[in-house]
Amino acid sequence: METFDLIIVGAGPAGSAAAYTAANEGISVLLLEEHRQIGKPVVCAEGISRSTIKPYLDIKREWISQYLDGAIIRGPFGDEFNVEYPKCGWVLDRIKFDAALADMARTRGALVKTSAKVVSLQDSKVVVDQGTKVEYGFKFIIGADGIASRIGSWLGVNTRLDLADIAVCAQYRIDNISVNNSYAKLIFGHQYAPGGYAWIFPKSETSANIGLGISPIKTKQSAKKLLDQWLKKEFPNGVIKQRTFGGVPSTIFKHIAGENFYLIGDAARLSDPLSGAGITNGIKSGVIAGRNAVRRIKGQKDSYYAEIKKNILNEIKFHLKVRNVYWHLDDEALNKVFKIGKRYFSGKIIDDIDMRQLVKEILLSSPKLMLKWFGLLF
Ligand SMILES: Cc1cc2nc3c(=O)[nH]c(=O)nc-3n(C[C@H](O)[C@H](O)[C@H](O)COP(=O)(O)OP(=O)(O)OC[C@H]3O[C@@H](n4cnc5c(N)ncnc54)[C@H](O)[C@@H]3O)c2cc1C
Repeated sequence: METFDLIIVGAGPAGSAAAYTAANEGISVLLLEEHRQIGKPVVCAEGISRSTIKPYLDIKREWISQYLDGAIIRGPFGDEFNVEYPKCGWVLDRIKFDAALADMARTRGALVKTSAKVVSLQDSKVVVDQGTKVEYGFKFIIGADGIASRIGSWLGVNTRLDLADIAVCAQYRIDNISVNNSYAKLIFGHQYAPGGYAWIFPKSETSANIGLGISPIKTKQSAKKLLDQWLKKEFPNGVIKQRTFGGVPSTIFKHIAGENFYLIGDAARLSDPLSGAGITNGIKSGVIAGRNAVRRIKGQKDSYYAEIKKNILNEIKFHLKVRNVYWHLDDEALNKVFKIGKRYFSGKIIDDIDMRQLVKEILLSSPKLMLKWFGLLF
């Protein structure tokens, strides 16, 4: 049986980041991906913000589909305003992006195997279906196998997600439409996306990733039905090129590290519970895990959980509180917040969004909201 210092299961952004970070330190790394082609199928709107990813990765021109200079926000009654935030981020081409991150791992010395599905894990080895079943041994393992992670449960972690812990998403790639390709559009209101929001992430002037995420505890309607209803009205001539359905975890998992393992990215439930964004936290957690796994393999003390807590979980904790407040708002209350946002952003060109500052502005603008929200937030 071939044995590696480190095995990483799943070559999404989290797994590849862990692989290139650890391989760079000279240990032997095996990265296993069940799909034939890394990055495919794309289950993502492909948006990423410059400020959050900047300390962890330089985004290369060839991974970018569109440059974003802000967002258009639509409230529950159809009014819109612009948030002018030049160079705030990009809409990626995740097929190229995911493949490039795996290539970085390969270049730094990791062995990357595709069409290699881990089907079980016993003691210090995994069984991998590569057409035939092959066993690989490891000293340390990282589960980067996404929202449907099995690695965690095989390692004894309770990976169960309650209905309240998940946003259910439906998204189509739509051609033959006209969109402003410098702005993402975010749409709020119960008619569009109960407990969540709808989005338009441009891929060009005539195509976009258009979707919505809902909380299944806030509606009995399906995400697909809501998306179909909305698209029929908003883009009657749009041509659907690709349909995507998936979930985004929105909770906090404490048990993401053990004697010989870490969980990272969506497998560790590290996506942002407000925006649903998980690429950046996946990469952050991958880099932190790769570095700390090397320490563990070399018999040194690690600080994986402490670093994840400081760099990711503290923010998730605050965003979960804001999300809970959001869940208490009906369309009337949401519209009040929308109007405060409109006042706050109008005429401004911003270079950062600080969620704590924004919440403070909203609370200070409305003593009534302050009374209602205070208990939920603090
Ligand atoms: C509709 C939708 C839209 C989204 N839009 C955005 C967005 O705009 N911006 C953003 O930041 N985030 C977005 N997200 C979230 C984002 O896609 C994820 O958070 C991100 O991909 C997580 O990265 P990851 O590496 O943890 O997991 P994944 O990208 O899910 O990668 C996990 C990998 O593990 C592989 N795998 C699983 N099991 C096994 C196994 N047993 N053996 C081998 N390989 C295995 C899978 O094939 C997969 O390649 C969206 C999610 C959805 C559902």
